[in-house]
Amino acid sequence: MKISYHQYELTPIIKLNLFAKKQTREGCLLKIDWENGHVGFADLHPWPELGDVPLDQQISGLRNGKISNQIEQSIYLAKRDAIARKIGVSLFDQALRVKNNYLIADYSEVKMTDLDQVYARGFNTLKVKVGRDIGEDIKFVSKILSSGSFLVRLDYNNLSNWQYFERMMSAFTQAQRSRIEYVEDPFPYNEIAYQEARKFCQLAVDREYSKVVFAEGKKVPVDFIVLKPAIQDVEEVVSIALKHRIPIAVTSYMDHSLGVAHAICLASELKKKNDWLIVQCGCLTTRFYGTDPFSQQISIQGPYIQSISGTGIGFDSLLKNLPWSEVRMK
Ligand code: MG
Repeated sequence: MKISYHQYELTPIIKLNLFAKKQTREGCLLKIDWENGHVGFADLHPWPELGDVPLDQQISGLRNGKISNQIEQSIYLAKRDAIARKIGVSLFDQALRVKNNYLIADYSEVKMTDLDQVYARGFNTLKVKVGRDIGEDIKFVSKILSSGSFLVRLDYNNLSNWQYFERMMSAFTQAQRSRIEYVEDPFPYNEIAYQEARKFCQLAVDREYSKVVFAEGKKVPVDFIVLKPAIQDVEEVVSIALKHRIPIAVTSYMDHSLGVAHAICLASELKKKNDWLIVQCGCLTTRFYGTDPFSQQISIQGPYIQSISGTGIGFDSLLKNLPWSEVRMK
């Protein structure tokens, strides 16, 4: 196996999350050449702010023959891409488009009239990042919940604690709470506390997934799993979700268009096999960055990715023309 990379930068046009500090974000596209002649591509976009191993460390590790967990995922995705490219088919399923939620990373910049437009474009689910100011959180979220237009996913990214969560949920009426589809990573995972929290609403685990003990036949206080193919073992998550009958929300990793394409292609493939398994995705993240030749090839219509042309995950000519550096393994 030969690994080559192409380093890129993405320029955020709005604040991405509470952790993002830098102006531009760095990542690498990976090109994997297998001995059998297969060639596949994937993204590598670490978020050191969220605990990922920094990019340069992952690449230098590779030179010493050390494959990080994140690179392992990229290779897994690149392999899917390679197989499809070899036979000249697209991984993007035009016929089975998966709907996406509309992500509000920083609600301080969002007006209710903006959301009317979002609704008019066909979105019916909002995912809102919360957890830094309870007063503001309650004010904004209850406005959306009362409007009755949207289902809402609240993502605390572990920023809150039981008291914060309980105070916030208690501030909403039963009718308002019924508009909450789920609350994601409200606070660090704890079986008893999550069980308790479920009296208010359904719960999803994203980063907290790794702490859940999914023993055979055991009931877990988790209603949804957020799957990020960029960093999680897809096959493991899918087999657990199937066994425990927990629906999955596939999301991209606020990464390069290649990462977005992989996530959406995977989501529709999984949905085709088990319709109930895949709920609305969170893959429309290219709008958070300035446009580039790659993102321009992803055509988006309302909550759907409409098309990505080419074979595998697409971008054929762009990938062919990029300058690639081979990782020389010691
Ligand atoms: Mg999350």
